[in-house]
Amino acid sequence: MFLRSLTAPLTTIRGIGPVLVPRFARLGIRDAAGLLCHYPRDWEDRSRRVPIKDFHRSRVCTEVTVIARDWIGFGRMRALKVHVEDESGRAALLCFNRPWMEKQLVPGRRYRLCGHFYYKYREIQSSSFEIEPIVPGELAGFGRILPVYPLSAGLTQAMLRRFVSRALEQYAQNLENELPAEIIERDRLLPKAAALKAVHFPASALELELAKKTLIYEELFYLEIMVGRRAIARKKSAASPVSPARFSASDRAFTPPQKRLLERLPFSLTAGQEEAVADINRDMAHNDAPPMARLLQGDVGSGKTLVSFLAALRAVEDRGQAAIMAPTELLARQHAENAARLLEPLGLRIAFLTGNIKAAGRKELLRSLSLGEIDIVVGTHALFSKDVHYKNLTLVVIDEQHRFGVTQRSLIMAKGGRPHLLMMSATPIPRTLALTVFGDMDVSVIRDLPPGRKPVKTHLAKESSEGRVYGFVRGEIAAGRQAYFVYPLIEGGVEADLKDAVSMADRLAREVFPDFSLALVHSKLDEEKKRLTMDRFRAGEIKILVATSVVEVGVDVPNASCMVIEHAERFGLSALHQLRGRVGRGGDQSYCFLVYSDELTEDGKARLKVMLENTDGFVIAEEDLKLRGPGQIAGIEQSGYLDLGIANPVRDAEALARARTDAFAILEMDPGLLLPQSRVVARVLEEAPPFGEVAL
Ligand code: ADP
Ligand code: MG
Repeated sequence: MFLRSLTAPLTTIRGIGPVLVPRFARLGIRDAAGLLCHYPRDWEDRSRRVPIKDFHRSRVCTEVTVIARDWIGFGRMRALKVHVEDESGRAALLCFNRPWMEKQLVPGRRYRLCGHFYYKYREIQSSSFEIEPIVPGELAGFGRILPVYPLSAGLTQAMLRRFVSRALEQYAQNLENELPAEIIERDRLLPKAAALKAVHFPASALELELAKKTLIYEELFYLEIMVGRRAIARKKSAASPVSPARFSASDRAFTPPQKRLLERLPFSLTAGQEEAVADINRDMAHNDAPPMARLLQGDVGSGKTLVSFLAALRAVEDRGQAAIMAPTELLARQHAENAARLLEPLGLRIAFLTGNIKAAGRKELLRSLSLGEIDIVVGTHALFSKDVHYKNLTLVVIDEQHRFGVTQRSLIMAKGGRPHLLMMSATPIPRTLALTVFGDMDVSVIRDLPPGRKPVKTHLAKESSEGRVYGFVRGEIAAGRQAYFVYPLIEGGVEADLKDAVSMADRLAREVFPDFSLALVHSKLDEEKKRLTMDRFRAGEIKILVATSVVEVGVDVPNASCMVIEHAERFGLSALHQLRGRVGRGGDQSYCFLVYSDELTEDGKARLKVMLENTDGFVIAEEDLKLRGPGQIAGIEQSGYLDLGIANPVRDAEALARARTDAFAILEMDPGLLLPQSRVVARVLEEAPPFGEVAL
């Protein structure tokens, strides 16, 4: 039997009653296979004994006798204190919020104890420890490598260990291998049953490594089989006959409505923009081919918005409707205003839809949309609300796609028949990840910035010399330009010495820039207020905008020439890059000041220096990846793809590459090959949005 066919209910596992079922469901565990695939998030090596006297060297792991108990403190702070000893010394266990331990820890009895200890009040103490009675014959919690599981309310580590162990006993004996035998042999992997057993209860560190290697490879292999299979399917349908007249050089050219828009612009497209539009026109030219599934990558300021408008024009030409979705109301409004300015003169009907549009207007708007009286609708996630219906939605544009989850992306797609999809992202996705995450999508990359842009001059400054930064900004504003000040927090209180946007807006307005108009935006303000402030900033009435990272996404005010980021060490490099991209959008020289705490370590400083040395978002993203790990790369964590059971495409990049070669080679020999798929991958498959093609 394959693991995924193991649908036996949880209650068939000895000790699991109906009461526990909903608790397991909260962890996504619904049957025996689900429990077996609930991999540990960590392992604790308790195979080595560490006596109390060695507490300062590592975690203590020993057998003790309880000597005495007493109570310390008063009222709510009252806590049980238990004195224990092993052959090397004595220690005290502080049982905060665990009064029931009094009954369990009986003087004179023997226990296994494991925990972090420290020296305080002239004794060796611990308040974070695990202790359990030594019962002959029970599954020993010590003397071995123990799994540490993700938990939810009502489930403890001990329970999970017990039930997983039973599930292994009851069900895992005769599981069949899912990987092809040749691969298992070639890489010396474990058989499935053994790998599963060893990942939960490894006999040694070596066995654990082997088990992980096996299961990681298996997941990545299926992921790549999925990517490869889609690519093949797409190739097949794309190969359906296309009339030669339509598949000609004219596909590369702009359509007449697109030309009319371009004629009205004060500038011409960059080469990168032009190529992206050509790609899109080609994708959208053939009604009988599969719909477009394209990712448009381009650094901040590369002009992606305009490309999406040109795509929308193309959709409307074919009597379709286009929906342009942005992650924040601020950004959606900016796009809507630009769309109105550029496209309404061409006779297109534009609408703006967010959750905040009032009742009467909304009803009218929705009616027009469903009747096809609106060509292009720009908005937030409100675009896929239940009550929103489109007459003929043929193009979905998702701006800053990484801000949306997989589910949200598929919800908007479901509003049309099989709409074309254009996802835009300024977060460059490192190649290693792109292979998996967007492995079967087409990609256009805009590599150039509009001409005339001067690179932003970036400076590091210590907090104690921020006065000089303020002085410089003053000069810029006096010369007619505008500035952003960005802080990591909205309001203070959490950490006393951290500057926050609210109190700094106040301080800057009163003490530093009393003669210039200043305003504050952050995510807690209501939308109307945010809009007014942004409008006035754009119009130049407000000179200084104090903000949190809400301005990180998309905001476009070319006259702003200074970006001051305080506590810069609190931001990820990619976020800093996005923030810096808010300036340098006009013809003036722009500046970015990264102000850091005087106490910042050398390592922290080295990290910020990456920003001085690099202007390329791809390079910065790679650095970020190295420094902070994949979970931090904006958007990857929400994409759902890193949510595999045990594999991590970034950490396991090497295995991923091998799995890809294997999977594609196998598919090439036998494209119809039916392999038993692992569950996690099957789930990822179901949730994944429609994708495009990858070169085989
Ligand atoms: P992003 O790719 O970061 O979304 P935007 O679409 O916001 O960039 O464009 C940034 C700015 O560049 C806007 O003010 C836009 O009008 C301008 N822009 C776009 N394309 C060009 C171009 N080809 N030449 C000059 N300016 C351009
Ligand atoms: Mg943008």
